[in-house]
Amino acid sequence: MTIVENLQSVKRRIEAAAERAGRNPADISLVAVSKRMPAASLRAAAAGGHLLFGENYLQEAVEKISALPRDFVWHFIGHIQSNKAKIVAGMFDVVETLDRLKIAAALEKHLAPLNRVMPVYLQVNIGREPQKSGVMPDAARKFAADMAPYRHLRLTGLMAMPPYSPDPENTRKYFRQTRELAEKLAAVGLLASDYGLSMGMSGDFEVAIEEGSTLVRVGTAIFGGRK
Ligand SMILES: *Cc1c(COP(=O)(O)O)cnc(C)c1O
Repeated sequence: MTIVENLQSVKRRIEAAAERAGRNPADISLVAVSKRMPAASLRAAAAGGHLLFGENYLQEAVEKISALPRDFVWHFIGHIQSNKAKIVAGMFDVVETLDRLKIAAALEKHLAPLNRVMPVYLQVNIGREPQKSGVMPDAARKFAADMAPYRHLRLTGLMAMPPYSPDPENTRKYFRQTRELAEKLAAVGLLASDYGLSMGMSGDFEVAIEEGSTLVRVGTAIFGGRK
C-alpha cells in the first residue's frame, strides 16, 4: 500500500469510529506522525491532500520544515529542551507535549516578540508511569492555573499516551480518565468548553475516538515501520 492509500484507510477508520460513537468525523483531526521519515514521504502525503504532520525530534524536524512547502502544518510532539524553545516557537504551529512550566515560560518569552499565540496541549501522564513524560493527573489543575500569565500560549486541551498494551481495549479507561480530567478543568474555567483531546496512535486511535479524542497522532499505520 502507498502512503496515500494508507492515509485514506486511516481516514475511513476515523470516520467509522466517529460514527460508531455518534460523533461528527469532522471534529477529529489526523496528525501524521512523520518522525524518522524522509521529506519524500511527507511530500507523498501532501500530494494526497494531507498537510498536518507531527514531529518528535527537533533537529530532524527543522531540516524537513525548512525543505518543505510553507503550507504544511507542524505539531511538536516530542520532549522540549528550554534552550530549544526559540526554535519550537518560531517553527511549529502547535505544541502537544507541554509538561513543564519552565518550558511554558521559555516558549512565552520567544512567542511574545513574534506576536504569536500558540495553541498548546498539556501532556498528562494518565497512567502515572514513572518513566513517562507528562504532569501527573493530580497536578494538572495547578499547572493549568499557573499558565495564566503566559498570554502567548493558549491552553487548548490535554494530550495523553496510556501505558502500552497490545490490546487497545486496555487503553480505553485511560482515554476516558483523560476526558474526565479535561471536563473537570473546563468546569472551573481552566479549559474552554470546546477543549481538544490529543489521544490515540496507530494501535488504539479508534478506541480513543470512541472516548472523545479530537486529534489522533498516527505514524506507522500511514508511513509504515520506522527503522
Ligand atoms: C511516535 C509517536 C506517535 C505515533 O505512533 P505510531 O504508533 O507510529 O502511530 C504518536 N504520538 C507520539 C507522541 C509519538 O512519539
